[in-house]
Amino acid sequence: QAKQAGRGSVAAFDDALEQAFRRTARLEAGLRVAIERGELALHYQPKWDIGTGRLSGWEALLRWQSAELGSVRPDEFIPVAERTGLILSIGDWVLREACRQLRQWRDEGLPTGTMAVNLSARQFRQRDVAEEVSRALRDNGLKPQDLELEITESALMDDLPAAAVALTDLQRLGVRIAIDDFGTGYSSLAYLKKLPLNCLKIDRTFVTDMTASEDGAAIVATIIVLAHGMGLKVVAEGVETQEQFVQLREAGCDQAQGYLFFKPLAAPECRDLLRACKRLAEQGTASASQS
Ligand code: C2E
Ligand code: MG
Ligand code: MG
Ligand code: MG
Repeated sequence: QAKQAGRGSVAAFDDALEQAFRRTARLEAGLRVAIERGELALHYQPKWDIGTGRLSGWEALLRWQSAELGSVRPDEFIPVAERTGLILSIGDWVLREACRQLRQWRDEGLPTGTMAVNLSARQFRQRDVAEEVSRALRDNGLKPQDLELEITESALMDDLPAAAVALTDLQRLGVRIAIDDFGTGYSSLAYLKKLPLNCLKIDRTFVTDMTASEDGAAIVATIIVLAHGMGLKVVAEGVETQEQFVQLREAGCDQAQGYLFFKPLAAPECRDLLRACKRLAEQGTASASQS
């Protein structure tokens, strides 16, 4: 009987493995045609400036609505895109679409702030990444300061020499560079000091831990002090509660992102939000000039 049970679990394992293979193959096939079929879209999550209490910019986050597979999460399809190299064309599409959207909002007279785009390791190791970025900016009449590139800590640490070269090129161009998911990649701040960076995004797990334990709060406060000492701005990701926000503000964090403020929004909702921001700003100046 034991023998039979053993065979049963091997069969179940085979099944699961085969299903996983099949899923990956379908994801890969779907991704190959996703751009031309118009299945990709960007949502945008606001970045909140803690000091001024205003929206300071956006992060573009990729969404895929597949005809065959339905809506697929980036955490599932981005790794497939990276492994197959499809991330190069998809990433270029993201970059251009985010720049196009920022241009459009500006043409409508909206106070957009900056746009941040996530770059995968594969993308920024391409030799001509700076050229690709500068073309997307030029084609949309944007300045390098309008764009921020987010690169995860683990992508940087994978190949530090290559990262240093790519980052130096991008920095020379004038775009801002943020290290994403900081705290998950086992790098030290001393290491990062050698790289040309502008901003550090504290990973959501640390923000969550902040209100769970005293240690958690102390770790975040220390990261902020050290990052500021290196001349980096600090953004907290995944802020979900008022309590987290208050602690971050007291610790001197510069910006915050998270469901407490806004989830990633589709473009029409972003436009509504920008219009509301604009009205508020105009009311502010109107009442200031009345008094
Ligand atoms: P990320 O760049 O660290 O983005 C933050 C993720 O956290 C997003 O997930 C966002 O929707 C989610 N998030 C934001 N605020 C909260 C919060 O308060 N609570 C919780 N629980 N989650 C929050 P999303 O959109 O599913 O993206 C996941 C990851 O996929 C991104 O992590 C990024 O690494 C990658 N990704 C997304 N779009 C792109 C892209 O265009 N290119 C590349 N290379 N990677 C992308
Ligand atoms: Mg990001
Ligand atoms: Mg992140
Ligand atoms: Mg992440």
